[in-house]
Amino acid sequence: MAIIEEENLVAAAAGVEQLVRDLQRTVRSGITKTEKWRIQQLKALLKLIVENQDSLLQAVFTDLGKPAHQVVFTELLTLATSCKLAIKELKQWMAPKEVPVPPLALPGTAFVVPEPLGVALVIAPWNFPISLGVDPLIGAISAGCAAVLKPSEITPTVSSILADLLPKYLDTDAIRVVEGGIPITTALLAQKWDKIFYTGNYTVGRIVMAAAAKHLTPVTLELGGKSPVYIDDSVDLKVSARRICQGKWSFSDGQACVAPDYLLVQESIAPKLVETLKETIVEFFGEDPSTCAELGRIVNANHFRRLTRLLDDPRTAEKIVHGGERNEQSLFIAPTIVLDVPLDVPVMLDEIFGPILPIITVKGVDEAINIILDLPKPLALYVFSTNKAVQERFVTETSAGTVGINETVLHVAVLGLPFGGVGESGMGAYHGKHSFDAFSHYKGVYHKRMEADADGTFPPYTSARNNLIR
Ligand code: NAD
Repeated sequence: MAIIEEENLVAAAAGVEQLVRDLQRTVRSGITKTEKWRIQQLKALLKLIVENQDSLLQAVFTDLGKPAHQVVFTELLTLATSCKLAIKELKQWMAPKEVPVPPLALPGTAFVVPEPLGVALVIAPWNFPISLGVDPLIGAISAGCAAVLKPSEITPTVSSILADLLPKYLDTDAIRVVEGGIPITTALLAQKWDKIFYTGNYTVGRIVMAAAAKHLTPVTLELGGKSPVYIDDSVDLKVSARRICQGKWSFSDGQACVAPDYLLVQESIAPKLVETLKETIVEFFGEDPSTCAELGRIVNANHFRRLTRLLDDPRTAEKIVHGGERNEQSLFIAPTIVLDVPLDVPVMLDEIFGPILPIITVKGVDEAINIILDLPKPLALYVFSTNKAVQERFVTETSAGTVGINETVLHVAVLGLPFGGVGESGMGAYHGKHSFDAFSHYKGVYHKRMEADADGTFPPYTSARNNLIR
């Protein structure tokens, strides 16, 4: 490593250390714990979003080529809704909850009191670069934490606009943005945090968890995985195809953690479903999707090459039944369907995170469930069936962050649902009240009244024999 770079890193590490100390001091002052401060900050964040919509949309377009309405729908509206919910319900979330006290502990009362974990680190990815950084911040602020947001270096324009705007609206003694790539993130991870909230891939998830383990810091890991879709012959194919195509291609061109990764289709309907999906792709994105403004682009050349390598694997390439066109210069890959690839080709082994959709025909539910159980637990699992018994089998016999029935992706908007993975798709959850919980410790407080204690509760326990469990 060049000396100058090394010096910069040492300086950065020292800066990060000082930053954490400053934030710890703010938390210790008690300001972030007050309801007033939390509400002020949440209102300021809402104002930031409302007042800077145009520049935020432009920043995402510059980095990812995403059309404005997509960003409004998947990022700005989501954030505004999260802020408004937190503002409306904060008092209730913060209120201590009384729990029953057993006779042995009388006379007294007991409460569960949420307390802020302290100073939090939020590490965000690039695919929804505003909301996946700012939404966890809403949780941190609601819970009364100070926090550092580290946006993704892969979306530098968004990273820089967040670093510019957040200090203009929020209390800089408590909320800070640190920009940078792996060296800065490594320096941040070396610090002792009270909470780390990471969204991204599971390889880095392991690095984050190992760093957190050194300080016994609790983590939320929002990771990814292969989210399957099962479809049987009970459904309306047109309605299903529209919902699948929207979830796969309309939000970030398949580069969404909850996008359908592959389809498991009952064999009797497979040919008809493939045709319906093809028609729907043309209906949504036109005969030449490379000119369609509805579709975003692959984030960078590395991801473009990773995806084309998946497609160019000979056992996959021969199975392309739709799409496959690509243009490295414009980072475009057409919505692509591959039919009945072997389960051991690269496209079926790892999360695709791009516009390729493998379809595997299966005899029925048993085969589909076995395929799903052979892979790591997914972040989302989708079942398209009107048969209640089939729906129930997927809910009870598989494990996934969330099960969506006859839908894809939209469950993310249901703020009452915890959003998070299980197993390799992550741990912990957020959204709505769950975001408050992610940054809170639920502290037990038991208060015994200063009165004489009941007979037999102190030595000598002569009456203990009377208390034997019968
Ligand atoms: P990314 O490359 O932007 O990385 C995420 C963050 O990790 C960035 O801030 C980056 O600086 C940091 N990072 C990268 N390498 C690091 C290292 N070696 N050490 C420390 N920090 C490092 O984003 P990504 O991981 O490519 O995002 C895509 C993945 O994220 C997919 O797997 C997707 O499924 C998952 N994801 C999950 C969710 C969710 O909510 N569960 C949401 C979006 C994306």
